[in-house]
Amino acid sequence: MVTLKSAREIETMRRSGQITSRVLTQLMKAVRPGMSTRELDELAERGIREAGGVPTFKGYSGFPASICASVDDEVVHGIPGARVLRAGELLSIDIGTTLDGYVSDSAVTVPVGNISQAARRLLDVTQECLTIGIAQMRRGNHVGDIGAAVQAHAERQGYGVVRELVGHGVGRAMHEEPQVPNYGEAGTGLELRPGLVLAIEPMITQGSPKVRILSDGWTVVTADGKLAAHFEHTIAVTEDGPKILTLRDYAEHPGVERYRPPREAIA
Ligand code: MG
Ligand code: MG
Repeated sequence: MVTLKSAREIETMRRSGQITSRVLTQLMKAVRPGMSTRELDELAERGIREAGGVPTFKGYSGFPASICASVDDEVVHGIPGARVLRAGELLSIDIGTTLDGYVSDSAVTVPVGNISQAARRLLDVTQECLTIGIAQMRRGNHVGDIGAAVQAHAERQGYGVVRELVGHGVGRAMHEEPQVPNYGEAGTGLELRPGLVLAIEPMITQGSPKVRILSDGWTVVTADGKLAAHFEHTIAVTEDGPKILTLRDYAEHPGVERYRPPREAIA
């Protein structure tokens, strides 16, 4: 069942999203070679709780941490732990906050120290994919328009689009209907209406889009071992177009985030 959110609910989700975006910004600034992914997770949990929120991921289907920390060929759902980050790696951080019963969900992939030009290009294109997907979130468009736009951009650049994992509705639960694939046919699927809140999250691979799950039961990796990147925002469809509820201050990390969301989407 697809639930539309009232203006009041969207306002609560925006407050939830502000915690998510603020804590994610802190984590992005903290990332450096030599630190463990567990340190980042502890920083995230403390930040969310101090702001009055609850880390949505912790305990979700038994997930043991407050963030997912996925390195290089790990696409999503990496479990934070003793792994120490090294210069040249890509780190995807996925984070969710529950505030007053409403969830916000956001992710970024950041460079650890200096990265290769090829890795930089993957980050840029994945971020562009998110921006392009968000721009489709207007009244009268369909869920398929989002996926079709993301897929076209990624594949034009020679990249793969993961099929097994998709974006989703978000609200009282982290994963609500509808599913929002990062691929598909324009003009198909649910029609977008004001009050719909979606998490758009392109997962883009340098090589084949095929993935597999590691024996920890969580970590999704590329089947060919090549790099992957993941960017995500929680966005409301409004009368005035898309509004990003997890918007960060992009001026805080200009070297990391080169592609700002569409101007009108800034809530
Ligand atoms: Mg997420
Ligand atoms: Mg999500």
